Amino acid sequence: MSREILASLRTVLIFSLVGLAIALSERLGWLAIYEDPLERGLPYLLFNLTVLIVLHDAWFYWTHKIMHCPGLFRWFHRLHHRSHNPSPWTSYAFDASEAAVNAIYLPLALLLMPTSLLAAFLFVAHMMLRNAVGHCGYEVFPARRDGRPLIGWLTTVTHHDLHHARPRWNLGLYFTGWDRLMSPEDPSYHAALARAVGKSAQGNLPGSPALAESVSKG
Ligand SMILES: [Zn+2]
Ligand SMILES: [Zn+2]
Repeated sequence: MSREILASLRTVLIFSLVGLAIALSERLGWLAIYEDPLERGLPYLLFNLTVLIVLHDAWFYWTHKIMHCPGLFRWFHRLHHRSHNPSPWTSYAFDASEAAVNAIYLPLALLLMPTSLLAAFLFVAHMMLRNAVGHCGYEVFPARRDGRPLIGWLTTVTHHDLHHARPRWNLGLYFTGWDRLMSPEDPSYHAALARAVGKSAQGNLPGSPALAESVSKG
């Protein structure tokens, strides 16, 4: 955890520098950020926030997939995967290069569409909360009586926990769509989720020490 906290502090620094660059760019008129969140109406605020989140999910999935390529993994993503059994401290325990790839999304998105300060704040708050929850090691997402996820298009804690145990699958951030479209989800996902929410027989799943621990925690 101390390693994760130190790496997260470096991520905070990188995110803050990008935040400073955004603020300076706004002063120079390079980015369209406005203060009154209702300047363009409530529907636009909701649309703006939704687009920021959906595009970020795609950005995360594809950059994550590229970072898993053998020649790039050790330079971008190895540190994050040193945590086989994630905790919230894992959320932003990135290599500096991975932190930069993640941080650059917001200024790119701000170039694409006029965004209010409130929408940008809500996007960042949602990103951090979702990331911390996704790494918390306890399943908190609701499940149906049969142990399947109640909202199948949202990633769960188990979904990302499995990625840390078996990195080949489950690369998505908020939504399961890209994983289902581009490659199957981890084949043990639904069984693991059912165990994590206590909807099936207890016991460890084969081949996944992190998941086994996570399941026993949950
Ligand atoms: Zn992770
Ligand atoms: Zn990964």
